[in-house]
Amino acid sequence: MTKIWIDAGHGGKDSGATGNGLVEKNWVLAVAKQVQRELKNAGFEVGMTRTNDTFYELSDRATNANNYKADLFISIHFNAGGGMGYEDYIFTSTPAKTIEIQKIIHKNVTAKASKHGMRDRGMKKANFAVLRETVMDAILLEAGFCDSSDAAILKTQSYQQDFCLGIVEAVKEIFGAKDALVTKYQAGKYSTSDDAISGKNLKGYLPAGTKVFVYKELAQTINLTTTKGVPGSWVLKTEVNTGKR
Ligand SMILES: [Zn+2]
Repeated sequence: MTKIWIDAGHGGKDSGATGNGLVEKNWVLAVAKQVQRELKNAGFEVGMTRTNDTFYELSDRATNANNYKADLFISIHFNAGGGMGYEDYIFTSTPAKTIEIQKIIHKNVTAKASKHGMRDRGMKKANFAVLRETVMDAILLEAGFCDSSDAAILKTQSYQQDFCLGIVEAVKEIFGAKDALVTKYQAGKYSTSDDAISGKNLKGYLPAGTKVFVYKELAQTINLTTTKGVPGSWVLKTEVNTGKR
């Protein structure tokens, strides 16, 4: 089963950003718990950095997610410093598929956030510890600024709800909801999406007619597996027939 790690920022002695009556550690915990519920309902296994007001070091957050063998790490924060808008971060040096994941998350979250008037500050990269020390794809979301007019948006239940839904819909898009799939032609199998795109390190073929499940879709590639929910091999989408064409 696909495992998602939700990292509610700060906690305990570390309140995070504060302003206009908003306290980051409390806001992100409420949102993280809602995301946890929604993802579980959607059939994902969910690990949590914290489910109460406890402080964890940044390295422990990454280590716990690594030990859990999460497929995706999502860190939830809000901002301070007087700016306006939503932004998300991945590590400064990441494989192409992490950039694809950021695109999918950014697209889904901003689609929801913009309805509330939250600005889009764009997709960014940073050398944050939780992004650097996690071994799976990792992203950090900044939901808005508590010390600007964003605060009024952050305070509404409907923004929190939509922010959660944006995350959940992105996760569903990343890990795919399609069931069976038959290869149209012989398809080259690769260990990574990047390998499939570049044609490097071919490790064998899926013969035409093989029935498989879609584990993930990224860029021009698709991860096919014979055991649902367990990663398989990456192939080019042009070499398979999803049954919808
Ligand atoms: Zn924060």
